[in-house]
Amino acid sequence: MSFNALNLDANILRAIADAGYTEPTPIQTQAIPHILSGHDMIGIAQTGTGKTAAFTLPILTKLAATDGQARGTRVLVLAPTRELVVQIEENIRAYGKHLPLKMATVFGGVGEHFQIKALQAGLDIIVATPGRLMDLMGRRYADFTKLQYLVLDEADRMLDMGFLPSIRTIVRSLPKQRQTLLFSATLSREIEGLTHEFQHSPKLVQIGRRSNPAETVTQWAYEVPRSRKVALLGHLLKEPTMNMVLVFVRMKHSADRLARQLETHGVTCATLHSNRSQNQRLRALRDFKSGVVRVLVATDIAARGIDVDGISHVVNFDFPMHSEDYVHRIGRTGRAHAVGDAISFVTPEDHGELRSLERFIGRGLVRKKAEGFDYTDRPEVRTAGDSGQGRGQQQRSQQQHRAQQQHRTHRTQRVQQPQHPQQREDSWQSGFAPEPGQRASGQRPRSGNRPGGNARGGERPGGRPFGRTWG
Ligand code: AMP
Repeated sequence: MSFNALNLDANILRAIADAGYTEPTPIQTQAIPHILSGHDMIGIAQTGTGKTAAFTLPILTKLAATDGQARGTRVLVLAPTRELVVQIEENIRAYGKHLPLKMATVFGGVGEHFQIKALQAGLDIIVATPGRLMDLMGRRYADFTKLQYLVLDEADRMLDMGFLPSIRTIVRSLPKQRQTLLFSATLSREIEGLTHEFQHSPKLVQIGRRSNPAETVTQWAYEVPRSRKVALLGHLLKEPTMNMVLVFVRMKHSADRLARQLETHGVTCATLHSNRSQNQRLRALRDFKSGVVRVLVATDIAARGIDVDGISHVVNFDFPMHSEDYVHRIGRTGRAHAVGDAISFVTPEDHGELRSLERFIGRGLVRKKAEGFDYTDRPEVRTAGDSGQGRGQQQRSQQQHRAQQQHRTHRTQRVQQPQHPQQREDSWQSGFAPEPGQRASGQRPRSGNRPGGNARGGERPGGRPFGRTWG
């Protein structure tokens, strides 16, 4: 099926073509007709299925049809995290780029001044987290008397995060005559309760099962003693194809510690966890998307819903405690039609969880061994010599690293980056030394052909490459 068959506005079709989408994803094919014909809808779909476009494209089409007649805030999208809010807004901006619509985001953790100014200036679309929005509504900064469309995105997550009271307060003050769309990864009893409370005879669209990781993701398990996990990650990161790597840990402090350890290996990292300020989190995501850092170390909560295209590998540095988390984590790669690898480190302590996971996803993970890596258990050393390599091996690693740098600079434009002397020293000792005048091993050059993008394609919402299709 093509997008042309979906009765979308011509300007939106243009934006879809600009984004490089050639055919709608299953959730888009099923949801768009219901939304265009005015029904409330429940969409059961994981992130990565194209659900943001599934609700955005028909809503924008309907706004475009009434353009000039109605003004005021007609669309409110509520989402659980600030990162997701920013991502949804980026998507809406991209799909609506040929339409004269005003929109803004509202979320906590940053100053409210600019958000209040935007609300006062008048907006067509607001994308918000419930807490800050409720606060600003309580002080009468938002006017929803003209609201027509309410979207509750990742509703299951909003419930998990305790947002139900704020959502209730917000929804109570919206016009009763509206279209309400609810998206969730699961259809639990709580979600059903929410749909009874907020929706009228909703249509149900269900795509995939949560226990079903994307087919495009190759899954591997590396059995490794706990003391060798950092060294193994450092070893694997020498592989040039690991060019955009999302690493999951269980605890916030382990994220910071691992990032520090990787930096001593000359791998530049960003971290994403809930102890970081909003600006730090946004910067981490921006640097990761643009290739300033090659590795993002994150906790499950912070990474939920992240839509960064082009992630080459997800590494479960700490094995996920819950099987659902595994599916969410590895869903960060292989999004839409892209391919990706998911690597899980399995220590002897993780075997019970590995077995539960294999039952949950209905298949075994293929065991893999890193070539040339010494798996011998030993006390953890957190110095520059962490990788436990001998001098000869260090020199070989250096040569490998040089080859890797050359490989990258062939593919992409070269960026000169001065090295901090201490970093050079540490990097050299651990066998990850960048050549003078070359990029540190963690840095990919910024793509020349799209904002915030990777080196693989043209401009798309959220910085995604051109030309993937949905098969
Ligand atoms: P979402 O489920 O909204 O987080 O979207 C997942 C990814 O799929 C995003 O990177 C979108 O840009 C991408 N995407 C959305 N619709 C399509 C489509 N029709 N074809 C290819 N990619 C798409």
